[in-house]
Amino acid sequence: VKLPEIGSAGQEKLRGATVLAVGVGGLGCASLPWLVRAGIGNLVLMDPGIVDLPDLGRQLLYREADMGLSKVTVAAERLRAMNPDVEILAVPLEMTAENVASFGSRVTLILDGTDAMAPRRVMNAFGVRSGVPVVFGGAVGWAGMAFAVSKEDPCWECAFGHQPASMTCDAAGVIGPAVGWVGALQANLALQLLLGRSVGGVLFTGDLLSLIFRKLRLKGQADCPVCGAAV
Ligand SMILES: [Zn+2]
Repeated sequence: VKLPEIGSAGQEKLRGATVLAVGVGGLGCASLPWLVRAGIGNLVLMDPGIVDLPDLGRQLLYREADMGLSKVTVAAERLRAMNPDVEILAVPLEMTAENVASFGSRVTLILDGTDAMAPRRVMNAFGVRSGVPVVFGGAVGWAGMAFAVSKEDPCWECAFGHQPASMTCDAAGVIGPAVGWVGALQANLALQLLLGRSVGGVLFTGDLLSLIFRKLRLKGQADCPVCGAAV
């Protein structure tokens, strides 16, 4: 690797990392190839979904011939073909409060590729409790956002817990490049965290229609029910 920020020590860190990807839809398809090609050691894919026709417009790991097949099975096969050195486990389950500890306990980082509040809340609470960093991402319409939570950073609950549930991209639609932009940004935040850099506490938002991109420092809420006691 030519980048001085990575070097052979950084490559070793990536090799020793285990990433838990929750959701292998548009965002996962956009972020995971970068992590696999960068040489992370282990990847756990969690998603109960099967490949369906509307997915093909933005979920780049799948093809028409995959329709009806388990997303994690197909994604694992495609990602293994990109880098056979990565150990990949396919788990066709939804992440829940009941199973988060059994899948999250041995990982280095959690990557959010869902588009729902419930699993994000579960990942966030687990991350704050266990110290495992979580990289959140979301895209709907032409807009997207991403941010990381690690160590003492303001958590997802501080930033979004009080907001009403947003539209999902299945309901509202999403433009493919918005998903690609967020996925690439999430992969970048994940790589930096795995290399030991601090990138949390900052929310990145972008609107690919108006082409306005912003960076906002998040504030921790002292009374946050998840991380409040720790801040
Ligand atoms: Zn919080």
